[in-house]
Amino acid sequence: MTIRALRILPPFAIGRLGSALEPLDNYTIEDDPDHPLGFRRIKGAPTLIVDEATGEIREARVAPNPTFKQGERIRPVAPFLEVFALTDDDDVLKPLTLDLLHRNGLDETKISWHAVVANRKVVRRTDKEDDLVKADSGWFSGHGPQQLKGHCKNFIDRTAFVDFGHVRFIKPTPQFPEIRLRFMPAKGLIYGPNATADGKPDPVIPARRAIYDSTKGWFDFGADGDDAGKSEAFHNETLPPALYATAREAATEKAFTGKYWNQNVKGTYYCAVCGNRLFRSDAKFASTCGWPSFFEPSRKNSVLYREDNSAGMHRTEVLCARCDSHLGHIFDDGVPPTHKRYCMNSISLDFQPDK
Ligand SMILES: [Zn+2]
Repeated sequence: MTIRALRILPPFAIGRLGSALEPLDNYTIEDDPDHPLGFRRIKGAPTLIVDEATGEIREARVAPNPTFKQGERIRPVAPFLEVFALTDDDDVLKPLTLDLLHRNGLDETKISWHAVVANRKVVRRTDKEDDLVKADSGWFSGHGPQQLKGHCKNFIDRTAFVDFGHVRFIKPTPQFPEIRLRFMPAKGLIYGPNATADGKPDPVIPARRAIYDSTKGWFDFGADGDDAGKSEAFHNETLPPALYATAREAATEKAFTGKYWNQNVKGTYYCAVCGNRLFRSDAKFASTCGWPSFFEPSRKNSVLYREDNSAGMHRTEVLCARCDSHLGHIFDDGVPPTHKRYCMNSISLDFQPDK
């Protein structure tokens, strides 16, 4: 049983960011025999539980009802990548185990791994290799977690990195003798430039995650119209980070920092994500709150409302009716005739002056 070749399977594995402590349980999806045309059922499948201290698999257990969240936190999808061997006695892939290693005069200490992980979001858009964010674990053989630090030539310095999570060589045991690697994705934080186009700190991205060098131009991508002809989906999946944080994760820009809070120019405000017409300058009023404020949208159905009990407050969230992007909140301390105050994030708006 001489090993001729090795394969890592699956060849294509999906990880997903999440901030819960426990990764998602394994599950399968099966037909409901009583309703073969109805929704299929999610059913727990054997899940390998890794001992965080030793890197060994402690047990395989089946969750009766797999849950995708732990409290409010998303459970990351942390795939195992398993090694299979082709031997000279047949053409069948079989798991590479301690036993198979021993029969070839080897043991687990002879195994080394090398993981390379990249985020291609920006480079896919700009076509500039210096925008590639890449983590390289180097060769390792131990069973501790190997952090994946995503570095980029266009970050502010060589120490700045995006946390991609970690990989670890799962320590094989007599009970779980297979050779496998696990990828544990990071929490999924939003990183951004160290300054915005006006040279000031980004009002949304925390300073320690403002690591893209703003002089390298990457964050301005799309602003000069060279994206003409590219699809709306393309634009949506490559939103600038501060807009993504606001529109998709309901972050709030700091008061008095946005580009429109004290603007008094005639024109129209559109959704910065999808271009939906939202407000006219006639409905904008000078508010001391530090965010652009309007007493009514340009059309009743331009926006949607949703109850928001986050951050220990009871508020009503305002969303773009076309693309569901978070815009801000509505309050009752506005001016006549409506006495409402649509308190918006500048970043969520795109202003076009009247001609
Ligand atoms: Zn929109």
